[in-house]
Amino acid sequence: MTSTVQELLPLLKTHFGYDSFKPNQLSIIEDALNKKDVLAIMPTGGGKSLCYQLTALALEGTAIVISPLIALMKDQVDVLQANGIAAAYYNSSQSEETRQAILQQLENSELKLFYVAPESLGFFDSILENLKISLFAVDEAHCISSWGHDFRPAYTQLGSLKKRFPNIPVMALTATADRTTQDDIADQLKIPNAERHLASFNRPNLYLDVKPAQDRIKHILDFLDDRPNESGIIYCLSRKSTEAIAQKLQKAGFKAKAYHAGMSSEERSKVQEEFITDRVPIIAATIAFGMGIDKSNVRWVIHYNLPKNIEGYYQEIGRGGRDGLPAHALLFYSFADVAQLRRFITQSENADVEFAKLERMQQFAEALSCRRIALLNYFGEQVTKGCGNCDICMSPPAYFDATLLAQKVCSGVARLREREPMGMVIDVLRGAQNAQVLERGYQNIKTYGAIKDVSWLD
Ligand code: ADP
Ligand code: MG
Repeated sequence: MTSTVQELLPLLKTHFGYDSFKPNQLSIIEDALNKKDVLAIMPTGGGKSLCYQLTALALEGTAIVISPLIALMKDQVDVLQANGIAAAYYNSSQSEETRQAILQQLENSELKLFYVAPESLGFFDSILENLKISLFAVDEAHCISSWGHDFRPAYTQLGSLKKRFPNIPVMALTATADRTTQDDIADQLKIPNAERHLASFNRPNLYLDVKPAQDRIKHILDFLDDRPNESGIIYCLSRKSTEAIAQKLQKAGFKAKAYHAGMSSEERSKVQEEFITDRVPIIAATIAFGMGIDKSNVRWVIHYNLPKNIEGYYQEIGRGGRDGLPAHALLFYSFADVAQLRRFITQSENADVEFAKLERMQQFAEALSCRRIALLNYFGEQVTKGCGNCDICMSPPAYFDATLLAQKVCSGVARLREREPMGMVIDVLRGAQNAQVLERGYQNIKTYGAIKDVSWLD
């Protein structure tokens, strides 16, 4: 079957109220309608859900959508039902009665879309055998890959779908675009010939900014003073710091709340609701916040701590400026965060991959040339021209001949026998007179005070 734009546009208009497709949506849908497997890589907010939803509407039978989070399924199903589309999800949070009713609908082929978590899929084995299935959509497909940043073991079972249902197209969707993860997704889902659709990851309206993590709270307060009433998210590494930051902002007169996985699900829903409706414009959150949230007017996203990889960073900043208007992404970078993340990673089963990803994140934060080039190159897009909308393009680093300085520093490190931390090396080189320096007798070494004319922060 070959479907044309002329057939799909009326469906798009009737069911979703849109007049045109977003980039890549049409070609993805057409491939699936032609029974091809598809690997769709589109940035957050790119409109991935619509690709399988519209395909499902254009085909006979039921589309099975595999999705990792109950909240994501529920949001989508609510919207679909509100648009008059027969869709349902199935999970353990539902009453026995509801679940029975949904199973009945599924068996009677009354559903166009059926959402289920990978963990529950096995439960439907016999029903699926007897059902007319239009499509398997695997949303957040990077969860299948241990190269990805959100590995979910249950996703690995999905490889059996293609074997059991070789004639039904599989559409895998993700915003994670590094090449290794892509290949791994195709490999594991057994869709080696999947058509790959790579949408551009460039979000030119996001201003990319990195600052050293000193006086973060003061910096944030100044930042917010310049942006009264704007909505934004502050991502932190720990639950404790989300609460501490929210409190400090409240004290300074801002409407801010914390959000983290330690709160009850009612509390979390309430905070999320208040954020979406602009009653609480500022949320200090752990990374659990925002997945699948579709709020268009988030004007800034701050990373209080360094994210553990570029995929996560990109997804989080992608929650800013979805309306296409300017938005500011500010990342605070400190080596202390790198050290802490390394400690976390040491305990991980997937440590090698995670170390490599952290290193790329660190390189991004330390970059001396256009941040967007670094970001897009990471996702496999070849860009060479500076973007003009990041901190580096706006104020390129000044270069100077540091030969002499470097020689003095190396000599200092050598004379301290490579045994002292960076702070001590700087203290000695700058001729500090503090107790630690004097106790160790470092005032007597030859490089003591060799660069006293350079300030600590320069
Ligand atoms: P993703 O899963 O890729 O992050 P979503 O599927 O959540 O993105 O879609 C993001 C937003 O884009 C949603 O509000 C959706 O309704 C909207 N959207 C999707 N397709 C279109 C379209 N063709 N025209 C306008 N808006 C669209
Ligand atoms: Mg999505």
